[in-house]
Amino acid sequence: MALSPMMQQYMQLKEKHKDSLLFFRLGDFYELFFEDAEIASQVLELTLTGRNCGLLERAPMCGVPYHSVNPYINKLLKKGYKVAICEQLTEPLKGKGIVERDVVRIITPGTIIEESLLDEKMNNYICAMYKSEDSVGFSYCDVSTGEFGVIEMNDGIYSKIFDALIRLHPVEILVNNEMLLFLNENLELIKAINIIPTLYDEDKFEYNYAKKILFDKFDNTDESILSVCTSGALLSYLKETQKNSLAHINSIDIMQDDKYVKVDASTGTNLEITQTIRGGNKRGSLLWLMDKTITSMGARRLKKWLDEPLRNINDINLRLSAVDEIKANPIKHDTIRQYLKCIHDIERLVTKISYDTINARDCASLKQSLKVLPDLITEISSFNNDLFNDLLHNLDPLDDVCILLENAIAEDPPINPKDGGIIKDGYSKDLDEIRDISKNAKKHVLKMEIAEKKETGIRNLKIKYNRIFGYFIEVTKSNIDMVPYRYIRKQTLANSERYITEQLNELEVRILSAQEKSNKLELELFTEIKSALKENIKRFQITAKTISIIDILQSNAKIAAENNYVRPAFNKEGIIKISEGRHPVVEKSKEGKNFVPNNTLLNMDENRFLIITGANMAGKSTFIRQIALITLMAHTGSFVPAHSADICIVDKIFSRVGASDDLFMGQSTFMVEMNELANILNNATSDSLIILDEIGRGTSTFDGLSIAWSVVEYICSKKKIGAKTLFATHYHQLSEFEGQVEGVKNYCVSVREQGEDIIFLRRIVRGGADKSFGIHVAKIAGIPKEVLDRADVILSRLEKADINKIAVESSLEAGEIINSNKDNQTQLDLKTLLPYSELLDEIKKMDMTTTTPIDAFYMINRLKDKMQ
Ligand code: ADP
Repeated sequence: MALSPMMQQYMQLKEKHKDSLLFFRLGDFYELFFEDAEIASQVLELTLTGRNCGLLERAPMCGVPYHSVNPYINKLLKKGYKVAICEQLTEPLKGKGIVERDVVRIITPGTIIEESLLDEKMNNYICAMYKSEDSVGFSYCDVSTGEFGVIEMNDGIYSKIFDALIRLHPVEILVNNEMLLFLNENLELIKAINIIPTLYDEDKFEYNYAKKILFDKFDNTDESILSVCTSGALLSYLKETQKNSLAHINSIDIMQDDKYVKVDASTGTNLEITQTIRGGNKRGSLLWLMDKTITSMGARRLKKWLDEPLRNINDINLRLSAVDEIKANPIKHDTIRQYLKCIHDIERLVTKISYDTINARDCASLKQSLKVLPDLITEISSFNNDLFNDLLHNLDPLDDVCILLENAIAEDPPINPKDGGIIKDGYSKDLDEIRDISKNAKKHVLKMEIAEKKETGIRNLKIKYNRIFGYFIEVTKSNIDMVPYRYIRKQTLANSERYITEQLNELEVRILSAQEKSNKLELELFTEIKSALKENIKRFQITAKTISIIDILQSNAKIAAENNYVRPAFNKEGIIKISEGRHPVVEKSKEGKNFVPNNTLLNMDENRFLIITGANMAGKSTFIRQIALITLMAHTGSFVPAHSADICIVDKIFSRVGASDDLFMGQSTFMVEMNELANILNNATSDSLIILDEIGRGTSTFDGLSIAWSVVEYICSKKKIGAKTLFATHYHQLSEFEGQVEGVKNYCVSVREQGEDIIFLRRIVRGGADKSFGIHVAKIAGIPKEVLDRADVILSRLEKADINKIAVESSLEAGEIINSNKDNQTQLDLKTLLPYSELLDEIKKMDMTTTTPIDAFYMINRLKDKMQ
């Protein structure tokens, strides 16, 4: 027995798409067969049926209706499957062989363009990563918007890849063999984004092959980019799967480190820039707070602005002046917002143009978007700012395209072009005529009847219609003498004769085929319109980008006005001076109703390193984060939550906040803390801003204190780093630094003791805290009184033993004791802690000038082991 012809066709296509589930179009359904059907029926919970396929056994089959296929595809993609969409390429003709079919597109998680499957405010990235002995590459693309770019990976590949993955959060990654091995050895890199990379054909990454593909595609490429191999491979993959020219992917962005403030992945996480640490939600993040954009294009780009804070003062000031101007004109601002509300997601509509999947309703959305542009332009023209001038220059209203759409597309067109009604009356003479015939069939017949009566003189002549004969002329027997030659007899009845004429036949054909014809003509006209749109893809994209920027500027103006933000000034003296600064997100929370603002002065000299001590819950973390967030916001061109802010350009912002366990990544709290700290110490410069919260908390007190101590020294040293730093710690002993280490200043968060209670004042004041108030905080948290009382007793005993008043050795090497407290505090005698002289010897041997904190950490660990 042989397979039926249709099944043979299926098999041939399946053979070419073995790694995808083949959705085979059969009329109004996509059907899956054999193993594909078994998988799909299970994943999608569909009934598995069978279909005769020419063989003895029926082929297992299941299917989904074509018009509601998207949710099914989504479910399969989420489970890691790819879906090959096979369409019918010709209309089915009765009894004339099988319909032509082919796979028109392979849908993978990273190549989704269906609006219903995408988050409108988020990009959907696919990445390619490549590694060879001497190079590494990283390219990315959002097929749904046409964005394509590379991230240069010239050094520190581990952290670069980590940062890029966390930032872009790709949903699909293509890798070559060596990169796969690298990722297998560094599993935490991909665990963080929770996807399995796909091993892609090594040949596609080959330099010359990739270069050709890349150069064919983009004009703005040059050979110096390091990611030729990944870019070429990514383009090959998109070509293979998308099977179209991808006209909307037409330029390549090169991410240059030195243009932007570097905010690494853990800093981004710690500062909750785009999502919260707990729950990973956008709500509660800085992005959530700042996002007052109206268009999805604006929302997506705002995230990019937060990911890429600028380092050029002029560029930042251009943005700030534009925000200032909008903010100063609330009425104009409101008008601009109203216009933006009429603008649809042009970027994603352009993708549909490129894929030829744009429908008439999308065209109506495009038309609506373009129609407001002249008004938007008028509004913006009245601003004086240079940035607005640039934006105006790029804000092409696409008048010609707008006129075309306005004239051609019906006001409320149906989605399905087959139903007709998408083209406006008056756009095409031919179409108008055809429509006229079908709409006015009765009128035309009546007109002909009158004409025939007049010409033949037969007064009771009638034109009638029935299903068998169609239109005919009926003449009573008494009048048949008057019937002219051109009448052709069709039927004889008892009292009358029925005729047709050539003209009537023509009219009939015209009437009956008018609907069909008009639909066909509409489709042809629509195809013409679509190709006109295709020719304008680039123009659409430039306009879309410009609109997204205007949207962000108005969003920044909105948050500035609503939250009483101030325009930051920029200085070149390395000063960060904030008066009455606030934490942008905390002040908006329920708890932040009466937020207490605080001042900050950081500079390159005596205020380089601020140690902030204070009780738990006093507000230390909030304070240091607010400085980092204000600095970051200012660099993105946003106003900031403060009374005034004078800020210098920073090259990097680092933050290590809180000791959160990352069990998912399989690392202990302390290891995570040390990893991040190592990253900061190895990469920070004197132009960086560092905020450190409770460094060393994850280990024993002495370990922790020692690490914190050497970290302070290392960062503070102008020879090593000399970066501006805020260091929050509940080790109040660290206040001893002021006066000992150049650049250190003590601050603490004030609390007022009232009997047994404490009141948090949230004010940052000069000086160090001398207590941790841990038990008070425990009381606020609701720890039972019995436990608190017992803790009090223990604390006073410990204090008597002077353990918590121990000042740390400044230099383990010298064994000399530094404690600026001039009272009688008993100081730590190392010998009582380390009773073994060999341990002391080992410490003495250490050269502190070359010891990194990590060395210190390992050494302390070793000493501890020896003591056991
Ligand atoms: P710490 O780091 O000292 O333990 P946090 O910074 O976590 O304390 O602050 C604890 C809580 O105090 C925050 O969740 C916030 O609700 C509140 N808080 C912090 N700073 C302020 C402030 N300046 N004004 C008002 N409330 C504040």
